[in-house]
Amino acid sequence: MKKAAVIGFPVKHSWSPIIHNYWIKEHGIFGEYEKIEVHPSDLKSLIITKKKQGFSGLNITIPHKEKATEICDELSESARVLQAVNLIIFKNNIIYGDNTDGDGFVESFKKDFPDINLSSLRIGILGAGGAAKSIALSLSKENPNKISIFNRNIERAEKLIEKVNLPAAEPFYIDDINLKKFSIDLLINATPVGMAGMTDINFINFKNIKGIKFFADIVYNPENTESMILARSQNIKTMGGLGMLLYQAIPSFESFFGVRPEVSNGLKQHILEHIGRVK
Ligand code: NAP
Repeated sequence: MKKAAVIGFPVKHSWSPIIHNYWIKEHGIFGEYEKIEVHPSDLKSLIITKKKQGFSGLNITIPHKEKATEICDELSESARVLQAVNLIIFKNNIIYGDNTDGDGFVESFKKDFPDINLSSLRIGILGAGGAAKSIALSLSKENPNKISIFNRNIERAEKLIEKVNLPAAEPFYIDDINLKKFSIDLLINATPVGMAGMTDINFINFKNIKGIKFFADIVYNPENTESMILARSQNIKTMGGLGMLLYQAIPSFESFFGVRPEVSNGLKQHILEHIGRVK
């Protein structure tokens, strides 16, 4: 039997088992995907144990993404730049670390807007945390017209630009987004503002952003955030975070179980029913 798991601390919030077990069933695979809670002090021994037990690999979630890089024998280019992994594969006796979050965002955008070329866009990212960093890295490979990073802590935005090596990017305070001086085609919310249980303070005044055409929120619970609803009321096209969550899981599933799965409407429906249950 092929086995894989997501490890985190805590891990009960993780939706990875729902996604992977849906695909296991869909493809009739003799496999199992579980969630394992592991304290940071046990991270290394747990990873080595799972390798010895013949697991195909692991997904890594909060708070282990950075620490797990130290346990890997090899890192992909994105994992090396980001110094964070969300995927570990055991192959040829090697522990290989990868980061698929940002590519999940780009894939999701391309599926939702197949006629839009990211290279023609001026992009603004709200947030400079782990998710913002991986999205910025993946977007940079698409050569966008311009990237601006807006964050409460501006030093973190500066560090992101330096680390991801975005020469033409600029850092700003998050509140500056409302200063009526920015021309942005695609604005991305990569902060948790809007998440279920967190007040959506409607911090974006879309009317102040010149030329805005797309708003992407990587929050996936709720499916439609207040900001997305507001954007749509002003004829701005929107994308929620569910697509990113599902597309980032594709390379993991393929490495673990040897089949490249699809993000189908059936899977989306399955997840949305789950959102209904956890609200
Ligand atoms: P993180 O590393 O903790 O970074 C959080 C970022 O949000 C920081 O830039 C932080 O700013 C900013 N922030 C936090 N609270 C804020 C507030 N009240 N107002 C303005 N800015 C605020 O977290 P992360 O891993 O990047 O995750 C961020 C969000 O993305 C979470 O909601 C997570 O669930 C979601 N996410 C979604 C996907 C997906 O697949 N759809 C994948 C990964 C993450 P400071 O630096 O100033 O503190």
